[in-house]
Formats: sequence, C-alpha cells, structure tokens
Amino acid sequence: MRCPFCKENEDKVIDSRSSEGGRIIRRRRECLACNRRFTTYEKIAEGFKLTVVKRDRSRVPYDREKLISGLLKACYKRPVSADAIQDLADKVEEEIFRRFDKEVSSIFIGESAMRHLRQIDKVAYIRFASVYMDFKDAGELFEEFRQMMEEGEKAATEDEEKSDEPNSKQPKLF
Ligand SMILES: [Zn+2]
Repeated sequence: MRCPFCKENEDKVIDSRSSEGGRIIRRRRECLACNRRFTTYEKIAEGFKLTVVKRDRSRVPYDREKLISGLLKACYKRPVSADAIQDLADKVEEEIFRRFDKEVSSIFIGESAMRHLRQIDKVAYIRFASVYMDFKDAGELFEEFRQMMEEGEKAATEDEEKSDEPNSKQPKLF
C-alpha cells in the first residue's frame, strides 16, 4: 500500500476490522519509512453497489467522499479531527450495511450522520442538520435545537443527582 504521506510502499498493518456486514475491511497501517499512520478501506468485491435514493426519488451511486465532504463542511473551524470524521463515516457505513442491501435513502444516511455528529460537536451537528435535513423553515431548526438544549440540561441534572460525593460541585475535568 502506498503511503499517502511519503509515497513509500512498505507498511505494516497494525489493526484491522470489518464492519458488521463484513463488507468493508478497515485496516490501520503504519508506514515503515516515515512511521505515519493511515487507514485503508477494502470493499468486498461481490458487486459492492449501493444506490442512494434521494428525496425526489432519483438515484445516485453511494459515494463515501460526499458524506465526508458534507461532514468536513459542517466541522469547518470546529475542534473535530480528520480521524474523528473518518470514524464517523465508518459508523454511518456500518449502519447502512447492517440494514440495507442495494438501496438506502439519503434521509437514512443524513439521520445516521447527524446522530453521531451530535455526540461529537453540537455546532457541527446543527450546521449539518440545517443543510442535510432540509428543514422547511427556521422554526423547525429552532425546535430541534431547543430539544437538544433540553436534553443537555436533563443530562446535566441527572449527573448531579447521581453523585452524592461532597465535592461534586467542582467542575469536572473530563
Ligand atoms: Zn510514509
């Protein structure tokens, strides 16, 4: 495998796992020349052809790069690493392959990506949601945002209730 950084050909595989459907094998590699790490994805042959059904019922071939570029846009200037974005795309693909064989709706992909993005960065999540979920108006987006804030508050309150240690009022480091 050619190293994307220094273009040398020698590497070792340090981790490899397949998605649940076993259709994609992800290999973490380390270049023996420059020691940098990169990830490769091998799609199992048997006609890996997934079609995305768009809202207007038109169909296009599934393209991981489209998902990645959407995520990158949403994460622009946000503290989200390139690795985290690749991981997120992996998770979305795993969900797709677990459930769909030949066709998947663009809505499913968008919702899956949103669910994962939401756990990583709220601002990126809102940006992604506003573009991909095609909110009809600002009110709908605001409603989504409000629910998110409420859930956040609830989670914070639950945390407080759970811990009865005397110093639980101190800010958490993690
Ligand atoms: Zn290298």
